[in-house]
Amino acid sequence: MAGYDYDLFVIGAGSGGVRGARASARYGARVAIAEERYLGGTCVNVGCVPKKLLTYAAHYGEDFREAKGFGWSVGSHAFDWATLIANKDEEIRRLNRVYAGLLEQSGVTRFEGHARIEGPHTVSIDGKQVSARYVLVATGSWPFVPEVPGAEHAITSNEVFHLEEMPGSVVIVGGGYIAVEFAGILHGLGAEVVQLYRGPLFLRGFDIDLRRTLADEMRKKGIDLRFEVNVERITRGDGGLRITATDGRVLEADQVLYATGRRPLTRNLGLEEVGVEVKSNGAIVVDEYSRSSVQSIFAIGDVTDRIMLTPVAIAEGEALARTLFGGEPTRPDHSDVPSAVFSQPPIGTVGLTEARAREAYAQVDIYRSSFRPLKHTISGSEERSLMKLVVDRGSDRVLGVHVLGPEAGEIVQGFAVALKMGATKAQFDATIGIHPTSAEELVALREPVPPGE
Ligand code: FAD
Repeated sequence: MAGYDYDLFVIGAGSGGVRGARASARYGARVAIAEERYLGGTCVNVGCVPKKLLTYAAHYGEDFREAKGFGWSVGSHAFDWATLIANKDEEIRRLNRVYAGLLEQSGVTRFEGHARIEGPHTVSIDGKQVSARYVLVATGSWPFVPEVPGAEHAITSNEVFHLEEMPGSVVIVGGGYIAVEFAGILHGLGAEVVQLYRGPLFLRGFDIDLRRTLADEMRKKGIDLRFEVNVERITRGDGGLRITATDGRVLEADQVLYATGRRPLTRNLGLEEVGVEVKSNGAIVVDEYSRSSVQSIFAIGDVTDRIMLTPVAIAEGEALARTLFGGEPTRPDHSDVPSAVFSQPPIGTVGLTEARAREAYAQVDIYRSSFRPLKHTISGSEERSLMKLVVDRGSDRVLGVHVLGPEAGEIVQGFAVALKMGATKAQFDATIGIHPTSAEELVALREPVPPGE
């Protein structure tokens, strides 16, 4: 591939870009990567990692309260936001160094700065031009805030991780998983939380039983959930922010956090000039092999708006490297992608929701169990868990596994393998449970839910 400076030039050193770059270098390609903000991208810096650390922090309040039932006397305790943020930042700096090391060990050349596509084989980084046989766009996504009067007073998930002070009260706007997770985090850390969502119930696209049960559980914990309401305007007064809602009610809060979706990040990338087709929301249109409408330009991760999750971006990067340099054209597999919502309690889910299964299959059986986990029999907590299986009656295949309860993500990761292998309900039944666990319920569900329940 002589004639070009590089075989592959990657724009964006986030989850997808770094994997695409390293995997390509592993096949012997000469690779360079440009990053304008932070190594590791959204997930490491303002996404999965800091979010999960804050989720752990938020649990301690409940844990201290529940410890009493188990005989512990917990002395006075207090939470210090500055300590949490400083420790979280230190861990992120460590991860940034890990990413730099991984790229260096792989022999990937690193550029710092904003990259822009100048031609099918040309990229400029803050004005410096380089050429590459292939260009990979892995620029991720950015929070989207709708136009509302006073929106400039609101913060997004980008800023919440860097607040100097822990807000005493927060209005969260949005109904996706990020909104739900921050409602749990900030409430758990002691803030008064109101969550507003314009639709009838949050977490659209997740199984209905999970959505309803999570709403009940969050309300029981004291989070003020308000559906079918939106923000009309936000103003700043002496005491903080005033949020006028579309139902006429006025809320006061220290912060307003908008988590109303993310849009592909294609700002000043030069896509239009070079003829790369994008959708109306900015997402780069790609084929099954992640190739854009320009032969030499590829795109993976959030910027393609397929499934906006880190492991998906990584899988797309790996598949692309194999396609371009491994001699094995590989389509990333977007079926049965498991995911978690680190809400309180959390959700783990894989496969079809009940609604999607009923659209696709003639006869669907539902197995469901709602119970109080053993721990809460003496912890004093009223929290309940939910386990649900969606089964195709014709083939006996398990189409969906949906869990709400402690460690739901950890539980569902294992069941996702079973689903991927096409496991049947009979095989679930033949599996011996681990006792006493919550997960054993999933292999002990014998009676389908009667129709209509
Ligand atoms: P990114 O990781 O965003 O990387 C893109 C990189 O490109 C960035 O570093 C950016 O600075 C850089 N860049 C952009 N434009 C240019 C340019 N022109 N020149 C140079 N560099 C550029 N996913 C999960 O799987 N699990 C979770 O629990 C989870 N939690 C999340 C929580 C939050 C609050 C958020 C916001 C996201 C979360 N996600 C989670 C989603 C996950 O972070 C993304 O799906 C993932 O980071 C996408 O990877 P990517 O490579 O497409 O983009």
